[in-house]
Amino acid sequence: MKVQMVDLKGQYEKIKEEVNIGIQECLDNTAFINGPAVKEFQQDFEKYLNVKHVIPCANGTDALQIAIMALDLKPGDEVICPAFTYVATAEVIGLLGLKPIMVDVNEDTFDIELKDLEKYLTSNTKAIVPVHLYGQSANMEEILAFAEKHNLFVIEDNAQAIGSDYTFSDGKVKKTGTIGHIGCTSFFPSKNLGCYGDGGALMTNDDDMALKIRMIANHGQEKKYYHKVLGCNSRLDTIQAAVLKVKLKHLDKYSASRNKMARYYDENLAGISEIEIPARAHNSTHVFHQYTLKIKNGKRDQLQQYLAEKNIPSMVYYPLPLYKQEAFAQYVEENFSLPVTEQLCKEVISLPIHTEFNQEVSDFIISEIKNFFNQ
Ligand SMILES: *Cc1c(COP(=O)(O)O)cnc(C)c1O
Repeated sequence: MKVQMVDLKGQYEKIKEEVNIGIQECLDNTAFINGPAVKEFQQDFEKYLNVKHVIPCANGTDALQIAIMALDLKPGDEVICPAFTYVATAEVIGLLGLKPIMVDVNEDTFDIELKDLEKYLTSNTKAIVPVHLYGQSANMEEILAFAEKHNLFVIEDNAQAIGSDYTFSDGKVKKTGTIGHIGCTSFFPSKNLGCYGDGGALMTNDDDMALKIRMIANHGQEKKYYHKVLGCNSRLDTIQAAVLKVKLKHLDKYSASRNKMARYYDENLAGISEIEIPARAHNSTHVFHQYTLKIKNGKRDQLQQYLAEKNIPSMVYYPLPLYKQEAFAQYVEENFSLPVTEQLCKEVISLPIHTEFNQEVSDFIISEIKNFFNQ
């Protein structure tokens, strides 16, 4: 039996005709850069997210970098982000001469918490980058209130949670990525809304910010060959936009399939005492970019090895806290340590999850996990 972490082929087979037509159109028009599909996808995505501006760019890391460039911060300014995230979140902060302040996360939802924001706030703090890890929203109401009180920008790293809904205590619902000042996302192929190469986007409801972001992503120019600021060259290819236009129409269905697969794992694994199934944040829907278990009693690595022997792929997102990465040594004291992040790096394991639910494959994965735990 072939088990894949993500079944992109199975998904493609179902939308092949539509996708091929879209790509063929790009080839026929030879409009590879800024062709019509880019604007069309942008508008469809704005409507889907209910946000005023989507600015497509080349990848999710660029989106984060451009977002932070748009804040006009000064060297040495501090930006708070979680220590338990993909490297890109903190990398761009450092690259821009700013100081990433890596903080701990909640052990159930994997998101930044208020108590850590309070602990690490200084007079140099200028922004917070919450990450909606694995597919559900950080506690945005709390983060926004804190940011407002201390006059901070909020940049959402929404690379893993596109399509997720966050409900405020007054009942208002917003899509993740449209809640802070700027949202960033990635269309890397294995992301929930993935293209067939690299891609990314920024989201904002602020008209001035949108203009600035567009300018930065386009060599700092508003008018061709007149450059107001130093920018970069970050575009979404037309062919990728054509793929995304098709896949966006299926995104909610894809999220539902991922939830179905997650529930199936939940039902079958919840009874194993050394496994903690994913907790649900109470005010967010989950789009299960990853289905991530916590494995107790130090058995995570053994479980992963056992599964590998059975040809069942699994992944550890992430094995090393960012502050322990060589690249980030300059930002922390030698023995800096965050307890929850440390623990999660030892306990988490992500199982195959994607849009193509297959009962037989799921049962096989579950039965091997049960075998490992002698259940
Ligand atoms: C994938 C990812 C990114 C970066 O996206 P790329 O398109 O690969 O540059 C950033 N942050 C998080 C949390 C991600 O998962």
